[in-house]
Amino acid sequence: MTDSNQAASNLEAIKQTIDDAAGVVKHEAGPPTLVCVSKTHDGAEIIPVLAAGQRVFGENRVQEAMAKWPDLKKQFSGVELHLIGPLQTNKVSDAVKIFDVIETVDREKLARALSRVLAKETEKTKKNLPVFIQINTGEEEQKAGISPTQADAFISLCRDELKLNVVGLMCIPPVEDTPGMHFALLGKIAKRHNIKNLSMGMSADYETAIHFGATHVRIGTAIFGARK
Ligand SMILES: *Cc1c(COP(=O)(O)O)cnc(C)c1O
Repeated sequence: MTDSNQAASNLEAIKQTIDDAAGVVKHEAGPPTLVCVSKTHDGAEIIPVLAAGQRVFGENRVQEAMAKWPDLKKQFSGVELHLIGPLQTNKVSDAVKIFDVIETVDREKLARALSRVLAKETEKTKKNLPVFIQINTGEEEQKAGISPTQADAFISLCRDELKLNVVGLMCIPPVEDTPGMHFALLGKIAKRHNIKNLSMGMSADYETAIHFGATHVRIGTAIFGARK
């Protein structure tokens, strides 16, 4: 079996595991969306996964996505590309062109920049770009995201003042913790604000995340194998 066939068969196995985990917790909205994380993998590696029917993908760099995805989007219709990595304010214009969802709104400066760019876009394209707010549930200094204590004010700012289309919250738990308490905290903040989507869970912990109500799981390694 070639590596690319391997990715497509891994995809099938993971979709089954997601369905099984979601079946146990009986999500109202049905099983969570699989965001297939294709960062560092080239078009040739991604095509078999697209051919197997996967349409939602995650990338963590604007430049890498701009190099790979315009071509792939031409070949396969209905692709939904999520930005799951940090976004610099000077890349916002590019990001809103190539990405369909931005999962990493993590600070006021970025929220304001997005709002400005989208206000211009709106006149032209009426694009109401869905965004997730990234919460630093472990309050780790080196990690991006809004501190849980500032989440309420930040969510209100994004929605009410900046008119961003906030559809969800996202988190990456600290590696040394059991992830459950972080997933629970993200769910609690979302509930307070009537926010429907929770992007949480990666290759190592997506089943746990689903038990805590994940609507989006971001999985790379378990599909493509280890990144080089
Ligand atoms: C790389 C990455 C993932 C995928 O991680 P795997 O362990 O390869 O599944 C998920 N979320 C974010 C934010 C990432 O940067």
